Amino acid sequence: MRVGVPKEIKPQEYRVGLVPAAVREYVAAGHSVMVETGAGAGIHADDEAYRAAGAEIAPDAATVFSDAEMIVKVKEPQPTEWVRLREGQILFTYLHLAPDPEQTKGLLESGVTGVAYETVSDNQGGRPLLAPMSEVAGRLSIEAACSTLRRNLGGRGLLLGGVPGVAPARVAVIGGGVVGTHAARMAAGLGADVSILDKSLARLRYLDDLFEGRARTLFATTEALESEVVAADVVIGAVLVPGAAAPKLVRRDMLKAMKPGAVLVDVAIDQGGCFETSHPTTHEDPIFEVDGILHYCVANMPGAVPMTSAAALNNATLPFGLALANKGLKALTEDPHLCDGLNVHRGHVTNKAVAESLGLDY
Ligand code: NAD
Repeated sequence: MRVGVPKEIKPQEYRVGLVPAAVREYVAAGHSVMVETGAGAGIHADDEAYRAAGAEIAPDAATVFSDAEMIVKVKEPQPTEWVRLREGQILFTYLHLAPDPEQTKGLLESGVTGVAYETVSDNQGGRPLLAPMSEVAGRLSIEAACSTLRRNLGGRGLLLGGVPGVAPARVAVIGGGVVGTHAARMAAGLGADVSILDKSLARLRYLDDLFEGRARTLFATTEALESEVVAADVVIGAVLVPGAAAPKLVRRDMLKAMKPGAVLVDVAIDQGGCFETSHPTTHEDPIFEVDGILHYCVANMPGAVPMTSAAALNNATLPFGLALANKGLKALTEDPHLCDGLNVHRGHVTNKAVAESLGLDY
């Protein structure tokens, strides 16, 4: 199959659909890969690196879109990209169509077959192509907390792990899923005093086994939540209620009882945030203060580390992308988990949740 990789054009997006190592896998499997010049600039992979991996370099996006039988991207296509897609072509990328009627209309008009990373499933009911970005965001949340705790940034002036003879900082992680687990691992690894709160007993049992005493697990009653938040130097918001906005678990009146200069990192901000006082911020201006408490609420945290994020995303997308390249649409009928990713096909919405949220036929 002819596979095309355009340069991402959404502002602040530095990742790329295929990293050179993934291109090499496609080429070894007998496919041809065309990459737009400069597509890997955000991850320091120049055209030469792509040529060495076996790709052909195209001078512009138009050439990539018109040549490719399958386009592999990261972000949802932008309006100038919708018009370049066509019936019979496969688009494999994050789409997030449910809140985006305009993009949905654009894709339906193009007739493209859109396979969305975020709805591909696995045997455990997980989202394997979302998980790597949650891993990145979870780990990054502790790096963000560490720097925000510094006095010169207005923070409490604490070293997360303390030193011999000085107590470490207390970190409360609300939500022990993928983000929360990776946040807790980083915090515990740096020597912090960590607690993880979750509503799922099964998840708490798993975490208790995983951490073997290096983190406390607590059932997320209101009482447990309030006492952990008040005692914390850092609170990581990592809850997810699938298909719903994040619940507001830390209310504004609780901030007054917190330690001055404590840090709230609201990773769940992309679902509206789980702290009442959160609003989305950017990497350029990530932190704001409310009632003496510092808030870090960047909505696209993995964007700060595109080299890690692009590689992690490629590791997860590669087997599915290769299956699509090897078998075409047959890959969808053979693998129900990949088929869960099918969102639009020849002018029809093919994902029930997307159709319902947009009021469209399914
Ligand atoms: P996940 O489904 O793996 O984990 C969510 C956890 O929250 C589950 O264990 C669930 O039991 C728990 N939970 C739900 N309601 C709760 C409550 N009231 N109290 C305590 N725990 C509760 O999800 P995830 O992959 O870890 O993602 C977490 C959030 O981070 C999502 O909103 C996701 O979109 C977001 N995220 C943000 C970024 C970013 O850049 N800001 C990046 C990746 C993920």
